[in-house]
Parts: sequence; C-alpha cells; structure tokens
Amino acid sequence: MDEIEALVRHVPDFPRPGVGFKDITPLLASPDGFARCLDLLCQPWRGAGVEVVCGIESRGFIFGAAMAARLGAGFVPLRKAGKLPPLTVGVDYVLEYGMDRLEARIDALRPGQRAIIVDDVLATGGTLEAGRRLVEHLGATVVGGSVVIELTTLNGRSRWLGETPLHRLLAY
Ligand code: AMP
Repeated sequence: MDEIEALVRHVPDFPRPGVGFKDITPLLASPDGFARCLDLLCQPWRGAGVEVVCGIESRGFIFGAAMAARLGAGFVPLRKAGKLPPLTVGVDYVLEYGMDRLEARIDALRPGQRAIIVDDVLATGGTLEAGRRLVEHLGATVVGGSVVIELTTLNGRSRWLGETPLHRLLAY
C-alpha cells in the first residue's frame, strides 16, 4: 500500500485555493503500481457476483473499466450531462459551487443486475451518491462501491448506503 500511496501527488490549492488535489496520474503511469492498485481494488469483489462496474466520469472510467475487465463484468459509464446520445436518464446533484448531473443510457442496466460503482476520490460524497441513485433508478442492485482515495475529514461516507460495502484503498 505504501508503494501506491507514494504514487499519489498532493497538489495544494488546485483547482481552487484551499483544495488539496489528489493527482493519480503518477499512479496510472506506473506499470507495477497501477496493476497492484487494480488487484487491490478488485479483491473485495471477487466471488461477489458483480455483473457490471459503473464508472463515474472521468477518472472513475479509468479504474472502473480496468476493474470490469479483471472481474469478468461489463462496464457502464455514468457520464456528465449531454455526453450520451438519447435516450438517457439522469440525476442532478449539488456540488460545493453549483449543480452537476450524471447520466446513463436508459437501457444501460437490467433490473436486478448486480452493480458496483467506482470513482477515484470520495470527497463530500455527492458524486458517488448521485451515481448510486442513478444506478438504482435504472433498476440495478448496488452491491457496493470502490474508491481509490477517501478524504475522511469530509465524511462523504455518511452519504453512502448503510450496510452496503464501500471499499477504499487510501485514506487521508
Ligand atoms: P465529491 O462529490 O465531493 O465526493 O467529489 C468527488 C468527485 O470530485 C470525484 O469524481 C473526484 O474525482 C473529484 N474530487 C473531489 N475532491 C477531489 C480532490 N481533493 N482531489 C481529486 N479529485 C477530487
């Protein structure tokens, strides 16, 4: 885990003053580090019957798609507004400054399909919560979530589902 932690770059005051940005591009650029990270991200879900990995735009795509291939699952992108062709469904959510929206194809998931939701960073939890609401709206069953980094001081975990596992690799 130390090896992975050493590959996350901490950028103060980006993209705004006061924000400590977690840059995962050095991790992606490391063949051993990225492979190890994917092994650890997949570990809790092996044998859990995951049928689809839902990745949140955009860094959730990188980790989620690679996890899906390893887990023998499909991959569904949860995209920002206006990126997917019709028909789509979406959920709006509140950001620190303003609103945002996640969308998926209306036929992206089957009712009851076992899904996990993946993103790079859990901060206030609004984005992951929106992803969960969208996946549930499409009728799938959310069996869990995975993030590479949890910013624990922001308590985003409190917005996740009570008993449903939320797995993280690194905590700050
Ligand atoms: P939140 O909805 O507040 O949990 O924010 C999570 C989303 O914003 C994720 O998609 C992250 O990619 C991004 N994000 C939030 N805070 C950071 C941070 N400190 N470093 C990198 N990405 C972040």
